[in-house]
Amino acid sequence: MQDLELFKKQISSPKKVVITTHHKPDADALGSSLGMANFLKKKNHEVTVITPSDYPSFLAWMKGNDDVLNFENEEHQPIAIDKIKEADIIFGLDFSCLSRTYDMEPYIRESSAYKVNIDHHQDPEDFADFAYHSTKAAATCELIYELIVKIGDKDLIDCDIAECLYSGIMTDTGGFKHPNTTKNVHLVTAELIELGADNSKISRLIYDTNSVDRLKFLGFALSRRLVIMPELQTAYFTISKKDLKKYNSQTGDTEGLVNYALSLDGIKIAALFTERKDGVKISFRSTEDVAVNKFAAKYFNGGGHKNASGGKSQDSLPDTVERFEKLIKENKQSLFNQLELIDEKH
Ligand code: 5GP
Ligand code: MN
Repeated sequence: MQDLELFKKQISSPKKVVITTHHKPDADALGSSLGMANFLKKKNHEVTVITPSDYPSFLAWMKGNDDVLNFENEEHQPIAIDKIKEADIIFGLDFSCLSRTYDMEPYIRESSAYKVNIDHHQDPEDFADFAYHSTKAAATCELIYELIVKIGDKDLIDCDIAECLYSGIMTDTGGFKHPNTTKNVHLVTAELIELGADNSKISRLIYDTNSVDRLKFLGFALSRRLVIMPELQTAYFTISKKDLKKYNSQTGDTEGLVNYALSLDGIKIAALFTERKDGVKISFRSTEDVAVNKFAAKYFNGGGHKNASGGKSQDSLPDTVERFEKLIKENKQSLFNQLELIDEKH
């Protein structure tokens, strides 16, 4: 039997389903998870969505949000572990390698459930029984829509599901601005609007519900924490734990910040270094042919898409930034001419 037929068969009778996504879920991660959860509930499955961590409050309006278990929450974790152990089917959405589920990873690996991976990141790990994967898709939500249509269940997509899926496509295309905004993206979003997604409302809920602290933090970061290296066509932000505390920063408050560095005329590489309790988290963005995913993978234990990737560092914030500057300088030719990146000298 074809994989798709097997998948259809798996979800044809009521099952215990767990849906999870990557650590610090964004709108595509949560939208695909809750979109799929709401869809599977309509097919009479018992569904639990477990996120490896908390997520921004501007996503909390999505249907099913109140039932999401946060694996980092002490009260939720034992319930979540039981749900994973009992699950007949586990969906991993919007990540290509299981390590992005952080502390959930060993429980998912150990489970003998039928595993499904739906995703659009590079280099997928082969952990699933059924993988629905395309790096050409702008968002996992786009793939979920396609998959539901493919299995003949389009009529089950209601307004709530459409709004979850619309959110992921809107944000992963940067509000329909990035080069991944294909004709198919517009066709799918048009269908989702037809099915009831209120595009203007969703845009307001996600982009225009800032706290005063967040807006002031943005002003502070722009005026005090932006470093521009015009000769390297690079600009970056460094945000310390102290900065985050001063502005009472909440999960999601730094989201989108890196794009301001990339919005500068002449800048092709942007980065955001954020000091967290478990090291420095890095976001990379680029324009055109500059492949920051290769840079993130080679030097910062990360990866992602060509123009939007991430990584991490266990060095201090200043040491991480110094190393970044050095690596950008040394790789100037390689980065801008799509050549092999140099091996780092220690
Ligand atoms: P963000 O900067 O928004 O956190 O992440 C942008 C993109 O980079 C994500 O969609 C994801 O593809 C990728 N990414 C972020 N962090 C990591 C990481 O630690 N490892 C890998 N492989 N990809 C990452
Ligand atoms: Mn995504």
